Amino acid sequence: MIAISRAAQSMTSSAIREILKITQRPDVISFAGGLPAPELFPTDEIRTATDRILTDQPAAALQYSTTEGHLPLRRWIAEQDGLAPDQVQITSGSQQGLDLLGRVLIDPDDVVLVESPTYLGALQAFSPYRPRFVELITDDDGIVPEALDDQLRTLSAKLLYTVPTFQNPTGRTLSAERRQALLEVTRRHRVTIIEDGPYNELRFRGERLPTLFELALADTPDPDELNVIKLGTFSKVLAPGLRDAWVQGPRAVIDKLVLAKQAADLHSPTLNQMIITELLDDVLPRQIKIISEAYGRRARVMIDNVAARFPAGVTCTDPDGGMFCWVTLPDAGIDTAEMLAAAVEECVAYVPGQPFFASGEGNNTMRLSYVTSSEAEIETGIAALSRVIAGRLAD
Ligand code: PMP
Repeated sequence: MIAISRAAQSMTSSAIREILKITQRPDVISFAGGLPAPELFPTDEIRTATDRILTDQPAAALQYSTTEGHLPLRRWIAEQDGLAPDQVQITSGSQQGLDLLGRVLIDPDDVVLVESPTYLGALQAFSPYRPRFVELITDDDGIVPEALDDQLRTLSAKLLYTVPTFQNPTGRTLSAERRQALLEVTRRHRVTIIEDGPYNELRFRGERLPTLFELALADTPDPDELNVIKLGTFSKVLAPGLRDAWVQGPRAVIDKLVLAKQAADLHSPTLNQMIITELLDDVLPRQIKIISEAYGRRARVMIDNVAARFPAGVTCTDPDGGMFCWVTLPDAGIDTAEMLAAAVEECVAYVPGQPFFASGEGNNTMRLSYVTSSEAEIETGIAALSRVIAGRLAD
């Protein structure tokens, strides 16, 4: 019998992964996956850029390269926030960024504060480093800073992981006032914030809010003194298959990340980084506009249909951007994981909410993605889901 490590023993199959398998049936309208709309990928532009790179610089594109990442790409990312390139580490998706940050920052039993609910992939990435997750009190505007302040009076925490803008899974956004308050409270209690921002650019309503990183820089202009580390990714705005993302923050952290990254995979694929670099000036802003507008239309159809069709007492968030909305059923006794089989019978799927809670609660919640289905499919799928929910509530 091969002895599995303790870290691996703590890894269990992800609920999302299991469900995605079922929902790949073509007759199922799936609101489950967090998959960007594939028909909007800039395929032709990626093909042209690839041809150009392989014609002009084949050796650079196909050879081993630096662990830190392709310098022109790092320089562009760094410039967005007035950083130096050595304050940016390129990663293979921000999922790898989360894993490497776990490796570099978390000792066993360190307290990691997370939203309630939070991104399941972050819980999975950090878990092998054996932190103690503590859920924060949240409401429709995200983390409640006064409650955090209270919690930190009796609790010594090292890290706070948050997706402040169009959160996965709820779609909600931390308000401008709370961003400032969160920074103030975490600074006072010496907590480092990991700000994960994959959806930041995908706003379809309202005004852009500054990131926590930007706000922190306004108060503490030396980036090496910040208590915020930010993750960004090209997955949602270009294509997730390119697996290109980054971590930015104080050099003390980035220097260690470089070493962790080197041990993990030497570097992210050079060709992909060069392709993305070619797309930054023209294609990226165009894509952001196209994707945000399409997601905005789909979100409207979903939210309006949910409001018109779901039984009384069911609540749903109404996001200003991103890919997800979050449904809470009125009866805490209804288990959405258990209800999923009935939904799939009706040819519709969602992600049960419970795995997104570090505490394991939230049985009566679910995450719906509005981005991978057409507007007609969204109408049909929401009608089917409302029949399933009505059936459960009547039981
Ligand atoms: N963080 C959050 C909040 C996400 O929703 C996702 C994608 N589901 C990721 C990180 C990982 O994205 P990627 O690895 O594709 O950059």
